[in-house]
Amino acid sequence: MPLARGLFYLATAGAIALVARSLILGPLPLWLSAAALTGYVAWVTLGHLVLRLAMFVDVVVRGPRRARGVALTFDDGPHPEHTPRVLDLLDRAGAKATFFVIGHKAEAHPEVVREIVRRGHAVGVHSYAHDRLFSLRSLRFVRDDLRRAVAAIEAITGERPWLFRPPVGHTSLRIARAVEELDLEVIGWSARGVDGLARSRPDRVVARVVRGLSDGAIVLLHDAAERDTHVPATLQALPRILAAMDRKDLRGVRVDRWLTEAPRRKQRA
Ligand SMILES: [Zn+2]
Repeated sequence: MPLARGLFYLATAGAIALVARSLILGPLPLWLSAAALTGYVAWVTLGHLVLRLAMFVDVVVRGPRRARGVALTFDDGPHPEHTPRVLDLLDRAGAKATFFVIGHKAEAHPEVVREIVRRGHAVGVHSYAHDRLFSLRSLRFVRDDLRRAVAAIEAITGERPWLFRPPVGHTSLRIARAVEELDLEVIGWSARGVDGLARSRPDRVVARVVRGLSDGAIVLLHDAAERDTHVPATLQALPRILAAMDRKDLRGVRVDRWLTEAPRRKQRA
């Protein structure tokens, strides 16, 4: 069990014990109750915000120990102009990648999603609506959104997607439950370009990503802006990232190629 999850269970048990103690033996001093509550809320909030802590849900942030190459991942597409440009750059470098598409954008540009698949890349789910408050939503909301996204992608590609990257990387117990029900695998990252913002500069994106390039790395990039308001910095940064991978003798691979080797996937197949 991830350390953060163990501590979350421990903190929850402690909170319940404190409440029970107060009910039986009378209220705790106010300062102690306030400190305990603040600490608990801070810890749970951290779990929501930091995906790699795996506090609520199992998450893959790197390939297995013997993984070779780098898994480039692209979020927030598809985009009718930007995604094909990313696909051309990947083709030129002979690299494969994974695209975490937003359900409603996939429905608007199904031909781009089919082109991603045709060129040999993996397609994962990045929710249907890309709600920034996804980790605060109810189980019903999360479940409906993810079901809709999975169905949209399956209708376009003919294959049921099973890779999932949570919108803005936040998770919750409700997301964990929906992921379990829909049999999705949560994919995080070991390096990120911080390339999705309008003010992101390509040279900074390159520097951040190149630092994290090693066998088994999962790199978070964007082939579209979240609300299609600008050209993501990755379009300019990607040729240099791919050149750096070539220099380091790191192939671009689909992230699912690493996971299909895991025992759980073998069982399912
Ligand atoms: Zn996103």
